[in-house]
Amino acid sequence: MVGTGRETLGGMTEKPGNDVAHLPLIGGHISLDFANTASSRTPGGKVERVHRFEDLLVWSERAGTATPAEVAALRAAARVDPTGAHRVLARALKFREALYRIFSATAAGQECQRPDLDTLNAVLQDALAHRALATTGVVTGWTWVHERSDLTRLLWPIALAAADLLTGSEVDRVKECGNSPCSWLFLDRSRNRSRRWCEMRDCGNRVKVRAFAARRRRGA
Ligand SMILES: [Zn+2]
Repeated sequence: MVGTGRETLGGMTEKPGNDVAHLPLIGGHISLDFANTASSRTPGGKVERVHRFEDLLVWSERAGTATPAEVAALRAAARVDPTGAHRVLARALKFREALYRIFSATAAGQECQRPDLDTLNAVLQDALAHRALATTGVVTGWTWVHERSDLTRLLWPIALAAADLLTGSEVDRVKECGNSPCSWLFLDRSRNRSRRWCEMRDCGNRVKVRAFAARRRRGA
């Protein structure tokens, strides 16, 4: 989109960086940043930034969930198997929306829906089946064991990270932006847990401007 980068979409001013190559990674956790590759989740207003398998590759390299060499290998594999790439893209979007609903419910203190947990668990089990210890004589950490052409590999680190967050001590710091319907998620690591917006200069300012205008209308 050519223009100011802050066009109005779906009743909400679009965020700067309207593509995965420039989208701010403000979630404080890769599973939340992945959920944030869509926003403004309202009927007819949802803003989608993952349109092609290539977008998954670009996001994964930026987020650090795949190395440049891995991304190059998967890009080549996707060219050989465009049908497979399209299938993984569809699975990624379904997985991402399940993640969004799980963390949105968590932030609101509500129960997660069973189908969403099933979707996360399916990717998680896939990921764990490809986990192994990396060794050079001594154990040096975790690694992935898989065919270099396995395109679903892009989802595995996100699923593991999501599981870690959901079962860890920071789960009660997961929040959803207070500027409805932004729908971005973030980890509130502020000392007094007072963070309300995905980005103060973005959603926070918009809410303040709206509140100021409302006060003016009331004559306050
Ligand atoms: Zn926001």
